[in-house]
Amino acid sequence: MDNDLNLSIAQVIKKYGLFDNRARAKAFGQHFLCDGLLLKKIVSCALPLDDGDILEIGPGPCGLTRAILDFAEKRKIICIEKDQKLKPLHDNLLKYSGANLSFIYEDALKIGLNDLSVDKLTVISNLPYNVGTKILLHLLQDLDKVTSMVLMFQKEVADRICAIPGTKNYGRLSVISQVLCNCEKCFDVSNRAFFPPPDVQSSVIKLTPKINRPHDIKNLEKLTAICFQHRRKAIYTILKKAIPGFSQNILDSCGIEQNTRPEQISVNKFLNLSNLLFQ
Ligand code: SAH
Repeated sequence: MDNDLNLSIAQVIKKYGLFDNRARAKAFGQHFLCDGLLLKKIVSCALPLDDGDILEIGPGPCGLTRAILDFAEKRKIICIEKDQKLKPLHDNLLKYSGANLSFIYEDALKIGLNDLSVDKLTVISNLPYNVGTKILLHLLQDLDKVTSMVLMFQKEVADRICAIPGTKNYGRLSVISQVLCNCEKCFDVSNRAFFPPPDVQSSVIKLTPKINRPHDIKNLEKLTAICFQHRRKAIYTILKKAIPGFSQNILDSCGIEQNTRPEQISVNKFLNLSNLLFQ
């Protein structure tokens, strides 16, 4: 078996016929990055890499994996990939890289971070667009082991995750992400950087779990689901209709005025309100 590390990622894609079946590649949300400089730029957003292991979701042809290896040769790197067809390609990298690398062939949505036998984790991933938001919400469920997450999303989704109150992108995903993590945009990526190019633009963002984050956000999830169905209505009107026994006193004790709209309410105020409403 020849060493794929002597090939470019574009050559690896060709060698393994990854796009011989376009419909299949589409179903897996496969848009691959081949530009080595860009791949390094993504990994550098996770620096400094604290002690601990690295998790990559969806390694595909391993362009990003190779870039991770350049920065973290000695680390344990765990990759979760849903597409079994990529195994021969991964076996080649396992054989020749000499790295502490392992591949799990499974849907990332079915694996909890707590199931992995690791202590501390940095997550680095170019997420499949079709399930990007779902995978993020899944990762946010157990952050105890996570040091930071550098993730690529469709730009619109990244903008919603990082949005501040009072802007059009601010919504449920912003509140849930930001109550648990500090969320920052790193940079945008043109669709031309991918093979094949997707219809949308992308962004890399970094999420760092907050030290004092709430343990349970079920109430917050419930409240934001109710509120952001009507983002431009007054909060009082929404809650009066949705929650029996609701009164203005609760809003007063959270410092929220009656006619404030959900899109104007800060993350912390939403958290306080959810705890008071559903305690
Ligand atoms: N990291 C590579 C590939 C990104 S494309 C690069 O940057 O070039 C997204 C990858 O995620 C594909 O390899 C796809 O097969 C994989 N994938 C799609 N859905 C997945 C899921 N639910 N769980 C794990 N991997 C998935």
